[in-house]
Amino acid sequence: RQSPPPPPQSHPRITLIRGDITKQHADAIVNAANSSLLGGGGVDGAIHRAGGPEILEACRALRASHYGRGLPTGQAVATTAGRLPAHWVIHTVGPVYSPNDDRSALLTACHTNSLAVADTLGAKTIAFPAISTGIYGWPIADAAHIAIAAITTTATNVKEVRFVLFDDAAYEAFLRATQP
Ligand code: ADP
Repeated sequence: RQSPPPPPQSHPRITLIRGDITKQHADAIVNAANSSLLGGGGVDGAIHRAGGPEILEACRALRASHYGRGLPTGQAVATTAGRLPAHWVIHTVGPVYSPNDDRSALLTACHTNSLAVADTLGAKTIAFPAISTGIYGWPIADAAHIAIAAITTTATNVKEVRFVLFDDAAYEAFLRATQP
């Protein structure tokens, strides 16, 4: 017997909302983690606070089993979402912004690798924060263009990518980045 054909891949629908990613009902939410995977400030801290200790336990187990030296920048890995309404948290490590060194390929990789992880999970809806635009200092307009370009050029079985923007400036930047 022939094996079934691979499922069709296409580009996801992009939606933008202002809000708190920890409140999102999506199959997966993306965490702008740091490479330790052991929590931090910003959206990372909010996800661990709202999701409870199960997420940190899963991250510790991943460090012990696969990422003894931490999760490299641009890569992505999934854990339980603990008490959050989402099913999974996909942790990815954004690049720290540098004005003298073009790290945009790593910011693109955060988005494409998170989508690839979502595909392995069978996730159909995924919510992203504005990765690298907080503590890691990336200018919001530039980060928004990189994020939207990464999503619109990647074939995936994910149906909806929702960007959850924490303030007006981030929302406006993503809105402009989606307009031709
Ligand atoms: P990074 O270290 O990648 O810069 P941060 O968490 O500092 O990560 O910031 C990334 C973005 O997430 C910033 O735009 C910040 O305003 C936003 N943010 C912070 N908390 C939340 C939250 N609860 N939901 C969605 N976005 C958030």
